[in-house]
Amino acid sequence: MGLAPVWRLRARPGTKRTQDAGNLKLDWPGLKAKVAGCTDCKLRAGCSQTVFGVGDEKAQWMLVGEAPGSEEDARGEPFVGQAGRLLDNMLAAISLRRDKNVYIANVLKCRPPGNRNPEPDEVAQCAPHLHRQIELIQPKVILAMGRFAAQTLLGTDATIASLRGKVHQYAGVPLIVTYHPAYLLRNLPDKAKAWADLVFAKKTIVE
Ligand code: URA
Repeated sequence: MGLAPVWRLRARPGTKRTQDAGNLKLDWPGLKAKVAGCTDCKLRAGCSQTVFGVGDEKAQWMLVGEAPGSEEDARGEPFVGQAGRLLDNMLAAISLRRDKNVYIANVLKCRPPGNRNPEPDEVAQCAPHLHRQIELIQPKVILAMGRFAAQTLLGTDATIASLRGKVHQYAGVPLIVTYHPAYLLRNLPDKAKAWADLVFAKKTIVE
């Protein structure tokens, strides 16, 4: 008779979502299987494999990048190319390791052709996977690396420069914005700023 209540999940403040992670109440195996079998956008047809994420599923630190590149696409792991090596070195300087105490994921789980930028429909389809990863991990800090990670998680069009140096919130988790490691490879002087962001993020973790 149309009298049943219509339940709608509200997006959390600070996030803009076209699909809510709340719709994706999957556990780790379910989420991994969903991503592995996903053909929701056009990217899966052009990549070798999905790149889910890597690291400690109970990590205090969650690092978010943009999308797999060619090496990540070949190996099935995020940030394994040159940018990843820079990232690993920076993390090591504060005693963090991807196989130990951080979790690393991307906004997109499939490589965009020719490493082009993610398109809005691809982000809209794929971001709920990332949102659910964050819900499952419950990190103490999120480091959003680059424009696509920051803008997706914060639901903003603001620039990296304007977002850096502040503690943002993603669903109650402190979120720090920093440069993407690939950008740092092209702009070496900004490595010092990225290092400052990392130290800033470390300070936000409340034990
Ligand atoms: N750049 C990203 O944003 N993610 C990767 O996994 C590799 C490069």
